[in-house]
Amino acid sequence: MNWLIAHRVASIAAANLRQRLGLPEDGYVDLFAALRRSGLMVAGDEMPSLFGAYFPAGPGRNAGILLNSTMSEATIRHTGAHELGHAELGHERCLADGPDLFSGLPRNKWPDEEKQAEAFAAWFLMPIRAVKTILTRLGLDIPREAADVYQLSLHLGTSYRGAVRHLEHLRMAAPSVAAGWRRVQPARLRARLCGCPDQPPARVWDLTSLTDGSELHVEQGDRLIVRTPRLGGRPLFTGPAAVTALAKPLAVEPDQGIEFDIAGDIDTPSLLTVTSAERQTLWSGTLMPTPEDRRGLIAAAHKPLMVGPTNGARR
Ligand SMILES: [Zn+2]
Repeated sequence: MNWLIAHRVASIAAANLRQRLGLPEDGYVDLFAALRRSGLMVAGDEMPSLFGAYFPAGPGRNAGILLNSTMSEATIRHTGAHELGHAELGHERCLADGPDLFSGLPRNKWPDEEKQAEAFAAWFLMPIRAVKTILTRLGLDIPREAADVYQLSLHLGTSYRGAVRHLEHLRMAAPSVAAGWRRVQPARLRARLCGCPDQPPARVWDLTSLTDGSELHVEQGDRLIVRTPRLGGRPLFTGPAAVTALAKPLAVEPDQGIEFDIAGDIDTPSLLTVTSAERQTLWSGTLMPTPEDRRGLIAAAHKPLMVGPTNGARR
């Protein structure tokens, strides 16, 4: 099976599963909600050489997914979607998702089931309508440069490289353009954007007025640059306790915007609102909470965490 066929099969299967699980087509796909609703047993734990694993149902055993809880959130989301793909496509056991086994193999030599699961992960987390909706929010038809792809990946909750590859599949980037973007280090994009070359924050959001009203799936350690050209003098803001405003913005002039750091977990969907000195609301966005299971999977690396049934009906 070549990659073209794998992508065709995977894109249809991903759309079907999203529909069955009641997940949106036009925005961020909550992978942890998908795992909870999937009926699969899911556990997260430290696994030195594996991203994740999938076990089909067997005698007296549910189908299940294991995720490496020490990976970044974007990697856990991708791996979870990959394993969900194995389950949805009726595959056999997948234990071979470690960086060791596949990193040495050229992509065209991957086993068919791995090609399909990998393609499934991309289509599941990045539906074409979601990509287009977010690009509109970024003021774009298609991405023009690497920085656009980086912002797109933040809104989608995927890795930068995963977004580059998928844009090529969606024919929104020519192979030569995508190859150029692949050579760009996201850390350099972050450093340039935030105006802090030495130690840029883990992720840097560039939020213009077009993102007003958006839901933002932020994480602890994120920097938010909110551009509000009509800010005027002293900016005012309201937001949850985990959000702190930088005393002096680094990336924008003080009268052109305001910058925030996400210093802790967000417990409930929380409005972040920027107002002018004249009390006019200039920008607001909803900071989405870190779900309990996501928090457990990522933060509590030593504590295996389960979602889904531990017994009962099998898939
Ligand atoms: Zn796999």
